[in-house]
Amino acid sequence: MSEEKRICRKCLLSEQGEEGRVQLDKYLAVIHKEDKADDAVYEKRLERCRTCEQLSVDATCLSCGCYVEFRAILRRGKCPKHYW
Ligand code: SF4
Repeated sequence: MSEEKRICRKCLLSEQGEEGRVQLDKYLAVIHKEDKADDAVYEKRLERCRTCEQLSVDATCLSCGCYVEFRAILRRGKCPKHYW
């Protein structure tokens, strides 16, 4: 049986195993607390991204090219399609 890791089309970076979580944590660590969205806002944005037709297999947004978690964490972040 193959040991190959399967990544679903709608996985976010944080859901793509250790490598994704490390990459995300590194990015989030350099953002000042005052520039971050509240946890509830962040989660609500990500819920919308998870069901979005613009979410790509590599957890980026096809509209803007950003990792959606990187865009959603910013307090002043905006969805390029105005979904949030
Ligand atoms: S268009 Fe908006 S909701 Fe859709 S993946 Fe991009 S940032 Fe998320």
